[in-house]
Amino acid sequence: MDLSAESFGVAPRRNMGMLEEMPLSLDPEDVIAEFEAMTRDAGRVQIETLKKILEENGRTEYLQRWGLDGRTDPESYKSCVPLVTHEDLEPYINRIVDGDDSSILTGNPITTISLSSGTTRGMPKFVPFNDELMESTMQIYKTSYSFRNREFPIGNGKCLQLIYGSRQFKTKGGLAAGTATTNVYRNPLFKRTMKAMHSPCCSPEEVIFGPDFHQSLYCHLLCGLIQREEVQVISSTFAHSIVFAFRTFEQDWEELCTDIREGVLSSRISVPSVRTAMSKLLKPNPELADLIHNKCQGLSNWYGLIPELFPNTRYIYGIMTGSMEPYLKKLRHYAGELPLLSADYGSSEGWIGVNVNPKLPPEMATFAVLPNIGYFEFIPLRQSLDGLEAKPVGLAEVKAGEEYEVIVTSFAGLYRYRLGDVVKVKGFHNSTPELQFICRRNLLLTINIDKNTEKDLQLAVEAAAKVLAENRLEVVDFTSRIDSSTEPGHYVIFWEISGEASDEVLEECCNCLDKSFLDAGYLSSRKVKAIGALELRIVKRGTFHKILDHYVGLGAAVSQFKTPRCVGPTNNKVLQILCNNVVKSYSSTAF
Ligand code: AMP
Repeated sequence: MDLSAESFGVAPRRNMGMLEEMPLSLDPEDVIAEFEAMTRDAGRVQIETLKKILEENGRTEYLQRWGLDGRTDPESYKSCVPLVTHEDLEPYINRIVDGDDSSILTGNPITTISLSSGTTRGMPKFVPFNDELMESTMQIYKTSYSFRNREFPIGNGKCLQLIYGSRQFKTKGGLAAGTATTNVYRNPLFKRTMKAMHSPCCSPEEVIFGPDFHQSLYCHLLCGLIQREEVQVISSTFAHSIVFAFRTFEQDWEELCTDIREGVLSSRISVPSVRTAMSKLLKPNPELADLIHNKCQGLSNWYGLIPELFPNTRYIYGIMTGSMEPYLKKLRHYAGELPLLSADYGSSEGWIGVNVNPKLPPEMATFAVLPNIGYFEFIPLRQSLDGLEAKPVGLAEVKAGEEYEVIVTSFAGLYRYRLGDVVKVKGFHNSTPELQFICRRNLLLTINIDKNTEKDLQLAVEAAAKVLAENRLEVVDFTSRIDSSTEPGHYVIFWEISGEASDEVLEECCNCLDKSFLDAGYLSSRKVKAIGALELRIVKRGTFHKILDHYVGLGAAVSQFKTPRCVGPTNNKVLQILCNNVVKSYSSTAF
């Protein structure tokens, strides 16, 4: 068997114009066979992939600077080219953004820029996007679809895709810029691939790319309801969008029924292109309106809403891991008995792994690294004996059970780029690792010797939310910050909750939060009062919605939105939204 990178379609440079004309054929068994062959020899495919990347881009200003001199082997690469963060590459990327089309990071000029959601630091960051990234995105989609289709086959039908294109604009240098998801949705290959995967979107493009996401969301729901019998899959990029959509449905369902009954679109939809597109779909249908109305009235607290509305749904699909885990409970509530299938692992910078075990519950989802879409390295997180950061290892050298930070070298101009994610190797698919997403590497909460990550915060919130659940209430969303204006500093946790809770219950939640950070540094600091009492602040209903709107206003896409789980001291606007909406606040008495 030919195991060259070329035989696995490493960075095929094709004519996109021609591609648009060609029907796309997708045989899931062929896709799986190719994946199996490639992952059986993952180490070699990685070496070939690196060679291909360096051959294509060796003459760039960036790689020349590091003196590779045409060498393409991993050892030379690792000894010459340093590990970098986005900040290190910013000067290069900014020149591209400003219109310098010389070979800066890539051999072929970059014509499109992605805006990463940048939820952590409060500002979106620019990353290059190109055809190779688009093709690897489709490779990931097709591979996970093929594995999904074995377990949960779907026929001809539609997918209620709760997706939103963000504003696209031209940079100073004339490059098209939008979020990565928008760049993907706008590419003709996306629509063709969705069709080949029996998952065409229910909604017209005018809805996906509408300028007002609240209006687009309303229309997505309407399109889904009109085609309810055809809907086989409910999906979004990140699960937050699905939960957000059905929370909105709880508010808007009667208006949606009225629109269906009368065949007239609500006046809340004011964008002319969206109105025109929707009016082509909407016809008076009192029977359907009555049916939906009755179904909604028959539900208890909206449990099982999705299968009631869309009776032929086979599964719900989207990224449900990492910062999406806190939404799983609500998603399960809406989904009733329907399976939740967790989607793949990637970022605006590029894709990493594919979920080839779709039957696993989202909490256990893993991602098999695709060895031909980039060159991957992994920094072991277990401290080395000298206390220094350990040296990165290659994909073929990682060990099951260990945690690593992911380093990416891509076909789109990123070389040894620290993605900032922590993953754990759960096992192997053939010889490629299956990764579990753990968290962002950035420490979230730290005052002195304490170290708490996004995951630690999530676990503490989950523990304290149990107290709330005993009172039939839930945490709608949450975030945190360090308050160092007090002496000593302390953690502040913000909660939006689904209803009114008594002071007694919230005091108990606050104590439970404080006790649930199990990090030894935190515990010992709390005991000796080197860290002050944890504060729980309850914010008004709708506060996190305002935070979402704020990020969307900055150019972020709803499709890629992740609630920041810690708000940094410079993220003034979000801090202001939170602080202006606090209704109650409690201080822990746990220590
Ligand atoms: P963005 O650049 O906005 O697309 O965000 C990318 C980041 O989202 C990644 O670096 C991860 O931190 C997170 N992410 C992406 N896919 C997953 C996944 N399957 N599970 C958990 N987190 C993910």
